[in-house]
Amino acid sequence: MSAKLPLIGYNLQALEALVKDLGEPKFRAQQLHSWIYVRTQRDFDQMTNLAKSLRVKLAEKYTVGQLSLVEKQVSQDGTIKYLFGLPDGQQIESVLMYFEERDVYAVCLSTQVGCAVNCDFCATGKLGFKRNLTAGEITEQLLYIRHDSGATVRNIVFMGQGEPLLNYDNTMEALHLINRSAEIGMRHMTISTSGIVPMINKLADEKLQLTLAISLHAPDNETRQKFMPINKKYPIETLIPALHRYVDKTGRRITIEYILLAGVNDTQGHAQKLNALLKTLHCNINLIPYNPIGEEYGYQRPSREQVLAFRDWVMEGSHKVTVRIERGTDIAAACGQLQNLANITAQEKEVAVVAS
Ligand code: SAH
Ligand code: SF4
Repeated sequence: MSAKLPLIGYNLQALEALVKDLGEPKFRAQQLHSWIYVRTQRDFDQMTNLAKSLRVKLAEKYTVGQLSLVEKQVSQDGTIKYLFGLPDGQQIESVLMYFEERDVYAVCLSTQVGCAVNCDFCATGKLGFKRNLTAGEITEQLLYIRHDSGATVRNIVFMGQGEPLLNYDNTMEALHLINRSAEIGMRHMTISTSGIVPMINKLADEKLQLTLAISLHAPDNETRQKFMPINKKYPIETLIPALHRYVDKTGRRITIEYILLAGVNDTQGHAQKLNALLKTLHCNINLIPYNPIGEEYGYQRPSREQVLAFRDWVMEGSHKVTVRIERGTDIAAACGQLQNLANITAQEKEVAVVAS
């Protein structure tokens, strides 16, 4: 028997075609669409306004989704990390975060299994690249989490495992599904990239209202190259002009992400260079104190005092500067800590658990 096809990933037009093929009236597609994307129902049999005969026909050939829950961990701060299994045995992680101050839930989605970019401070990078996720697999992470938690999710960040701009088409398809079908506004979505210049240019041309976040992490090539090999391909002198072009095309302010690694990129000199580099760019700066991924990688988070000093130095430039509050560090759910424990060796696993 061939595997059943998941319906998450079908937009309304595709569902209309499918319903037509099954010999059903068109309005059934709208009902099915609403059950899948808005009410996040995962069981055809619970879709009570569909005729029983249609529910049976659907269940013969299709499933709603295809993710299975392998593990769910709840952090002391309320963050929930979901480990999902995919039909081919691969696994991915997604994170539900609650921001009390603003009473908002946000979901962090993965776009690839592993990542080829191999930043030296990132647990996902250590896995290497396994494969791209489909648009359905990306979207389903959100729908599953909504279904499981009942949370009203307002914001989506494409900041989980993987480099979204190296899985451009599927990420864009997921983004539009989440926007049109799951009804989350473009302005509530953020894509974070390590700086894939041709794809930033392509995204700029689409003129979307989303937020683009750039993992800059250093103000000069010498420092950036130490921990981001991608900088060889897209050095700062090609990246920064692409960001100006992006702002010109979209009118949107960019978020600059800057990880703070003790003694590596956190001095006053780095802050001054950063200010000079970003002087005329329409951006906010988000400082991310390093989240440990294992002692053997040699990085450390700067002290709180150093983080605040760095923030003050950067504030001397004219940009808005925020320090990212880490979420779920106790369950290794914070930025850069996501990895699929099933994919790594027992020894590394120990390190990952210790790091959390
Ligand atoms: N691949 C994309 C998106 C996923 S990573 C990117 O690199 O932008 C999301 C963010 O977490 C990036 O800014 C990344 O640099 C940062 N990050 C990775 N490892 C980290 C770590 N150990 N501590 C803090 N931030 C980390
Ligand atoms: Fe990939 Fe982003 Fe991790 Fe770099 S920081 S290895 S681009 S997931």
